[in-house]
Amino acid sequence: HDAENDYKQSNPNSQKWHERAIRVLPGGNTRSILHTDPFPIYMDRGEGNRLIDVDGHEYLDLVGEMTAGVCGHSNPIIRDAIISTVTKTGLNLGATTAAELGFAEQVRSRFPSMEQIRFCNSGTEANIYALSIARQATGLSKVIVFNGAYHGGVLTFVHGASVNTIDRNDWVVGSYNDHEGVQRLISENRGKAAAVLVEGMQGAGGCIPGSAKFMHAIQKATKENGILFILDEVITSRLAPGGLQSTILDPHDGTPLKPDITTLGKWIAGGMTIGAFGGRQELLSIYDPRPASESAMQGKPAQMSHSGTFNNNTLAMHVGLVVLSSVYTPAVCTELNALGDWFRQELLDRCQGTRMTVTGVGAVCNIHFGAHEDQREILRIEHLDERHSKADSSLRDFFWFQAVQKGFWIARRGMVTLTMGTTRLELREFIEFVEDF
Ligand code: PLP
Repeated sequence: HDAENDYKQSNPNSQKWHERAIRVLPGGNTRSILHTDPFPIYMDRGEGNRLIDVDGHEYLDLVGEMTAGVCGHSNPIIRDAIISTVTKTGLNLGATTAAELGFAEQVRSRFPSMEQIRFCNSGTEANIYALSIARQATGLSKVIVFNGAYHGGVLTFVHGASVNTIDRNDWVVGSYNDHEGVQRLISENRGKAAAVLVEGMQGAGGCIPGSAKFMHAIQKATKENGILFILDEVITSRLAPGGLQSTILDPHDGTPLKPDITTLGKWIAGGMTIGAFGGRQELLSIYDPRPASESAMQGKPAQMSHSGTFNNNTLAMHVGLVVLSSVYTPAVCTELNALGDWFRQELLDRCQGTRMTVTGVGAVCNIHFGAHEDQREILRIEHLDERHSKADSSLRDFFWFQAVQKGFWIARRGMVTLTMGTTRLELREFIEFVEDF
């Protein structure tokens, strides 16, 4: 209660903006996740890995736009790409451009399972398109997803149910990380399900890594049952140069994951709106408008159209190209995620003997707040059901108010993501804050 009062007193301008905003925006904003009681903080600007709010407070940005902001707020290469696009290229030429081709080639070189690629405007869209490819290719409509999954605003699955407003009855919701259950679920849905759609680490679900056993069980069972394997790498593609799929190795033969279709979004265009989906050439050829005799694959399933005014907008294409080729390069990606592994371990060490724990991979993690004194209750969080039943949301909120007061901008739900250029020294300050807390 005191923490909330301190928050109110230190943020009078944010409160004023909020009072005005609730008149025109339901709840005061246009992204549910930004809702914060008693009111959200209004940010004025971002510089590198810092944010400054409308009351003049400066924060170390540990939200990093929910993983999309990995390049920081004012990366000079991105800034130059934006300026040169606006001044020399122009916005949206209503035509294909070389930047679109260059960006697609960069995506394929990083994620080889994406043999052919199409762009769209968000991760949500990318998943919807991936599902429509699967439905067209198989002639089936059901989709297997997992409890706690977040594949976009209209593709959210909690407490064993779909909270979607589209295709309400087409979802089969399985249990994440249940490698035996998933094999059963997939074989039971043979001839009914078009695809399994899954994250290699549940992001919004609490940064819960998928075990190699679970992920490879999905890959094997989908192949055996004529169901497509769609891997949502909208967040996890930033966790290794080749995405998380390159690091989740088959426990039997050490091979990486090779999904039929992969979806991307968030960081890949350096902060511009973006989505991308790609995979096996014969699947993507559904969108190849050339007559079958000319297209790469004979006997492909019936064609579909993929359109969208801003799919190849010049800003996203140019910035995406430079992000993959010159900003978030494989070397930068490896270094940032190694820093993240160190950071997470340091946090975990501080959490020993407390009601807190940390889950995640590389530079994306989530701090959890347990309802029980018994450490063992919260240390093995493997899926969302456990997180909910074992969570203490008032402790989590108290932590958030304290973090914000101390100048650390973290997601209210405990998600912490690192941005390029963040130093060990800056992270040590947060680690000390956690230790004192
Ligand atoms: N998939 C995952 C795993 C995500 O975390 C998100 C967004 O948070 C999406 C898809 C949706 O992406 P977008 O917000 O660009 O629609």
